Amino acid sequence: METGVKYADVCIDVSIEKLDKPFSYRIPERLSGIICVGSRVRIPFGAGNTEKKGYVIAIKDDTDYDPDKVKEILGLVEGSMGAEDRSFEMAAFIKDTYGGTLSQALKAVIPAKAKAKPVEIKTLVRKMDRDELLALAAEAARKNQRAKENLLRALIENDRIPSSWISGKLRVSGATVTGLIKSGAAYYETSSEYRKPTVSEMEKKNVSLNGEQAVIVSAIEKDIEEGKAGNYLIHGVTGSGKTEVYIRLAEKCVLSGKQVIFLIPEIALTYQTLARFYSKFGDRVSVLNSSMSAGEKYDQCERARNRDIDIIIGPRSALFTPFPNLGLIIMDEEHESSYKSESTPKYHAREVAKKLCELSGAAFVMGSATPSMESYSAAVSGKFTLFTMKERATGFGLPQTEIIDLRKELSGGNRSMFSRSLKAHMDETLARGEQIMLFLNRRGFSGQVSCRECGKVIMCPHCEVPMALHGNSKLVCHYCGEITGKPSNCPSCGSPYLAAIKAGTEQVEERIVKMYPGVKVLRMDKDTTSAKGSYDRILSSFANGEAQILIGTQMIVKGHDFPNVTLVGILAADLSLGVPDYRASERTFQLLAQACGRAGRGDKPGLSIIQTYQPEHYAVKCAAAQDYEAFYEEESAYREAAGYPPATHMLCIQLFGPDQKKTALLAEELSDVIKSKGPVRILGPAPANIMKVKDYFRYVLYVKNADLKRLSDIRGVSEDFFKDKDMGQMFVQFDLDPMNQI
Ligand code: ADP
Ligand code: ZN
Ligand code: ZN
Repeated sequence: METGVKYADVCIDVSIEKLDKPFSYRIPERLSGIICVGSRVRIPFGAGNTEKKGYVIAIKDDTDYDPDKVKEILGLVEGSMGAEDRSFEMAAFIKDTYGGTLSQALKAVIPAKAKAKPVEIKTLVRKMDRDELLALAAEAARKNQRAKENLLRALIENDRIPSSWISGKLRVSGATVTGLIKSGAAYYETSSEYRKPTVSEMEKKNVSLNGEQAVIVSAIEKDIEEGKAGNYLIHGVTGSGKTEVYIRLAEKCVLSGKQVIFLIPEIALTYQTLARFYSKFGDRVSVLNSSMSAGEKYDQCERARNRDIDIIIGPRSALFTPFPNLGLIIMDEEHESSYKSESTPKYHAREVAKKLCELSGAAFVMGSATPSMESYSAAVSGKFTLFTMKERATGFGLPQTEIIDLRKELSGGNRSMFSRSLKAHMDETLARGEQIMLFLNRRGFSGQVSCRECGKVIMCPHCEVPMALHGNSKLVCHYCGEITGKPSNCPSCGSPYLAAIKAGTEQVEERIVKMYPGVKVLRMDKDTTSAKGSYDRILSSFANGEAQILIGTQMIVKGHDFPNVTLVGILAADLSLGVPDYRASERTFQLLAQACGRAGRGDKPGLSIIQTYQPEHYAVKCAAAQDYEAFYEEESAYREAAGYPPATHMLCIQLFGPDQKKTALLAEELSDVIKSKGPVRILGPAPANIMKVKDYFRYVLYVKNADLKRLSDIRGVSEDFFKDKDMGQMFVQFDLDPMNQI
């Protein structure tokens, strides 16, 4: 073999099947040192040597193929970037920032290619009136016909539903739709073209912007017009009219021939939000969600590429919709942890969206009532333009809040989970015929089961976590899903006195039902929402007034607007403060502030009652006062002093292995290697909080540094170290600025 010759792995078509099989090409001498990973190159392809465009994903000294048969790269591709090149650039950015391989990054960025059938655009149109549909929905609920009920509820809220939403968002089968059409509730309208929104339709729902909204919209529009689109953070209290601002900006963008990506946490992707966009933009807006098949997702991408749609709404993966002329990315509820990818590459949608906007000259607008520490500090330091909306758009005030010290309740002789004040207000609210939301930051019976005689807790056989009791006889591990029956005797000492600590949503429901016989109650947590469409069903049934009390975990805090809810009770506000995580206070503040914001969103005044054992904690006090700035001050002082993001950056390196000793040893070795490359702050290695999951042990080390480049170099050093190791079944994961302490 010639010396000095280098080879490039080239992806011809950036689609998933081909990615697994890049082609090997020789790098000609004149391009040696010029071509690098990420270069776009022209190459001869196939028997006829047709010239194609490809991307270099790796450079090697060797090739697995016969060197004499390996073809040579023709040259570099010049010229402007298309959507596909931009994807490639984004993948390179993600790989550089968050680690992993280029092909993992490309897989995150590029939708799987799947055969797209020619689409026939169908729209389900409402035929019956609202009352008739409500009666049918109630009947379907009685007969336990969940899918039918979901679809009917969607029809109650909207008179026209694109069929793509039915299979996507609502996940309703064709048979259900046919049945519904037969019953005369709705009919299908078919066309071969996407309906363009007409002017009259666009005007129909227009509210005139208030002062605060108008200032924001015109400031951002001015920047866009002057070609100075940047990053914006809208800090607006719940109900201040942020969504109206997004819609107005999106409208302007679409009218100027550009496209919009609207990011929303998957859980907040409610029919209400979709309906607002849909009534404005008609079939020019589409939705992506995680339950869609690869084919459906690819279809949405094709529609975007072909300019059949102008707006895509979806969770973080919607970022990679290949719009030819992207003008705006909106990120609602930007503080949500679901914006961070849980699998490698563990990218954060905020950083990726920012980069994408830079590349496309688009504006990046984030909004939240409780901005993340990251975004708000970027705004404070002038990297993002900050807008503040302090008033509710409807003109009604923020809810009153009351903090109840549970320690005093206990010493006053009240041992129930409801304080005297909450109980009294529940009585009154029910008597007035208004609605109540009860929020508990736990799911199931929180309860681990322990022996009252020897104190032993029943643990999962595969994980280092207690099993949780569900119902009366089932034990479930929430980490690996192991399910066993509850033993009748203690496995350790044989005592028959096994008991669960009860403080979960199920138990709240039991108590409420006993306290208020005859009052309709709904419960929403992971257990009641595991079935398809159940999340929307519970929310819309509560919105339709079919129950007076909704009990739930953090899920009930998001998204929906319930004008008739005038009382919010937060049963154990500090449960989330006890979590060993540097974001515990931030998350508690967010949850409490958002939960409080749920009360009194209509024309009736609201009250939120926060029950807590730590009434003096700043997260609790600031949330009750709806004082974000005060919280930010305290929290950023803490992050600064303790050296946590956003004051610095933190690279988390997690090692997994079936053999505890070997895994621990590997972590130690890695730590030494990193230290040998220069002084740097390392925490650990230490066993992870939950040391064993699914029979794998987990060790963690944290490297802290304010310089991202330094952390990325350290990641490179670690990757090289592992490359030369016999890892066996051990593996490693990198996480930059993790959302949870591990
Ligand atoms: P956010 O997204 O900040 O929670 P929304 O945009 O959903 O707020 O607005 C809250 C409520 O106020 C909605 O019912 C919306 O229709 C209404 N609203 C928003 N802007 C205005 C306005 N300028 N005039 C009257 N009502 C408004
Ligand atoms: Zn025992
Ligand atoms: Zn387990």
